[in-house]
Amino acid sequence: MRGDFCHTGQGDRPVSHRKLTPGKLVIASHNQGKVREIRELLGPYGIEPVSAAELDLPEPDETGTTFAANAELKARAAADLSGLPALADDSGLCVEALGGEPGIFSARWGGPEKDFGLAMRLVNDNLAKVGPEASRDAHFVCALSLCWPDGHIETFEGRVDGTLVWPPRGDKGHGYDPMFVPGEGKLTFAEMDDATKNTISHRADAFRKLVAALL
Ligand code: IMP
Repeated sequence: MRGDFCHTGQGDRPVSHRKLTPGKLVIASHNQGKVREIRELLGPYGIEPVSAAELDLPEPDETGTTFAANAELKARAAADLSGLPALADDSGLCVEALGGEPGIFSARWGGPEKDFGLAMRLVNDNLAKVGPEASRDAHFVCALSLCWPDGHIETFEGRVDGTLVWPPRGDKGHGYDPMFVPGEGKLTFAEMDDATKNTISHRADAFRKLVAALL
């Protein structure tokens, strides 16, 4: 799945983009790492981010089978409950030699404690089972959906390709960042500061598309 995806949740009919006006926007995520990154990305646009946690919004079950479907159901639930436009992210790590796993189940590989040390070990152990020659290529995907209280929804998808390293390195970032080296570089995402990650990440890629269309 390449990162040039945008649809409006209204079938294949061409629909013009709706502009997002300055004001409150719910960030429909309970993942503090993502909320921090999205706040920083929204910084220059005169938008007042409010997190789902601040509004005490429940986390809906992620029953979709794609990143886009899960982002859309989270954005829709938050817009319905808050009466405000809501932005949701669904993202994950796809490992080529594992057939795209953990993919949409990336959060669940950390178990109930959301232990990403455990999740990263699982990825590395599964790669070892594939064999010593297994490709360490991987990519992150991010689907961003913006839903308005009247049900209009737009979704944008971004991607960053890279390589998995072991052992994990760095103490910044979140999730699988310590084992992911983007592009042809040397540093893992967890060895970069937020500002650097936010220029090259899957979330930044999706965000650039959203900004071009909606802001
Ligand atoms: P969900 O979108 O809430 O289902 O969770 C996505 C999961 O994918 C997160 O909990 C992380 O484990 C992983 N993930 C998504 N984006 C990133 C990222 O930028 N860095 C590291 N891990 C990520």
